[in-house]
Amino acid sequence: MKIAVVGTGYVGLVTGVSLSEIGHQVWCIDIDTEKIEMLKKGKSPIYEPGLSELMQKNIAQNRLTFTTKHSEGFQGADVIYIAVGTPENEDGSANLTYVEDVALKIVELVTQDTIVVIKSTVPVGTNNRIQDLINQHKERDLRIEIVSNPEFLKEGTAIYDSFHGDRIVIGASSKYAFKILEEINKPFGIPIFQTDIRSAEMIKYAANAFLATKISFINEIANICERVEADVEEVARGIGMDQRIGNKFLKAGIGYGGSCFPKDTKALLKIAGVVDYDFELLKGVIMVNKNQQELLLQKLNNRFDTLKDKRIAILGLAFKPNTDDMREAASIVITEELVNQGANVVVYDPVAMENAKKVLVPSIKYASSVEEALQEAEVALILTEWDEIKKIDIESFRKMKTPIVFDGRNCFDLESLQKSGIEYHSIGRPVVK
Ligand code: NAD
Repeated sequence: MKIAVVGTGYVGLVTGVSLSEIGHQVWCIDIDTEKIEMLKKGKSPIYEPGLSELMQKNIAQNRLTFTTKHSEGFQGADVIYIAVGTPENEDGSANLTYVEDVALKIVELVTQDTIVVIKSTVPVGTNNRIQDLINQHKERDLRIEIVSNPEFLKEGTAIYDSFHGDRIVIGASSKYAFKILEEINKPFGIPIFQTDIRSAEMIKYAANAFLATKISFINEIANICERVEADVEEVARGIGMDQRIGNKFLKAGIGYGGSCFPKDTKALLKIAGVVDYDFELLKGVIMVNKNQQELLLQKLNNRFDTLKDKRIAILGLAFKPNTDDMREAASIVITEELVNQGANVVVYDPVAMENAKKVLVPSIKYASSVEEALQEAEVALILTEWDEIKKIDIESFRKMKTPIVFDGRNCFDLESLQKSGIEYHSIGRPVVK
């Protein structure tokens, strides 16, 4: 099948590469000329394990092509995937401008019957609105049918998830569309869940809101654990053995970030608000997360009279490990506040430093290794649980000017730090001194 994928961000590029890997002829389209130039040379503009290799392989086998011209990509396409961004508007709702722009391009350029698959995360009712928009503008007698196929990949394991996901959700309104989507996706060997379009749209928001709730829940439990001298890691293990709860997504820390949970939870509040429903639980989830992102700052301010002129090393900047994505990363809020309080901040991340330079306050220093960041540091903050950071030899902390560590991701066993001479603060666990 010839497939066009519009948008070559985290979702579009991974989708395009994965579809080419299972044998489809894929054209990836983006308006960002710099990105497309890089992609044509076989270079991935994003860091995602396994992506570059798979991309180069499929380019070499002539199944994967990149272009900035929608007309070129759409020509003869059986299916067009829309995977452009749906960022947050100022009021928290989803910005659908990019999706609508692509819909209008489809109306303008497509000359054959086509299925249009919306992969971008869009509020309930959007697929129907886009269908109406296409129907209104369509001059020729074409069959252009919209299908909702929300994406569940996780940055950092996106390629793995494409081939081993838990389910593929397809919301459609005709047997024909279900059949085509089933045919496309069958080689992935992942269970396909067919449903109506509105439910498919809602599944995406409900899934992200539920996962965000799990995180905020365990973080609140962690905050209580600290006050009652319990250990949240033990508590998470203990409750996770109950299969109704499950042991995933119960990692206490400094909250969620990234391009999805923050914006999708807010967008779901908006969706609920439009139908006069006050989603109180979700409001709590969002508020807890905001406070949690600032927890290390509170802990620091309780521990020290002032942070002025203190050399603080920050280890990990990306919103989570194995990605270079800095969107809504806790490091943004934390570095800004530390600089405001007069601290000398030195940061290190194995992959996200280039992206970090675009969003972090300018007055911080970038180190080229963990050791360099820790040199002369009076405090170390761990914000992302990269393997490289989890594997730090604790001797490295002992070489700091003063070995005081605030770990926002519980990277180390408390036992390994006992009697080490390192002062270690983590989340939901007793302080080790
Ligand atoms: P992104 O910002 O990384 O990429 C979007 C791309 O679309 C950009 O490269 C941009 O240049 C391109 N674009 C914008 N308008 C275009 C147009 N008219 N024609 C061609 N290209 C255009 O976004 P992303 O993180 O890949 O997310 C895309 C969608 O998928 C969003 O709705 C997001 O909520 C959803 N989603 C993201 C993730 C994730 O982990 N990033 C996971 C699941 C779902």
